[in-house]
Amino acid sequence: MPFPEDVIEQAFKRSGGRCECSRDHEGDVNAPHLDERCPRTFSKEFGGWVAHHKVSIIEGGDNSLDNCEIICEGCHKHIDPI
Ligand SMILES: [Zn+2]
Ligand SMILES: [Zn+2]
Repeated sequence: MPFPEDVIEQAFKRSGGRCECSRDHEGDVNAPHLDERCPRTFSKEFGGWVAHHKVSIIEGGDNSLDNCEIICEGCHKHIDPI
């Protein structure tokens, strides 16, 4: 279930156009960053980003702003490889 457009809008504003991931990707040579906040930036129009559910819907997460994380495709692939 995707986030409503207004939630994505607010989350994107919060991100400042920069990936909000600060996970530790240590051990993954293909990760865009190892720790601290990911340096990847993007613009809303041109993509390269994903509105990610911090807690997935299946695990009880919702479509709230708090549960929405704007992250780059590189980080998304790392945490949610499908
Ligand atoms: Zn990232
Ligand atoms: Zn990351």
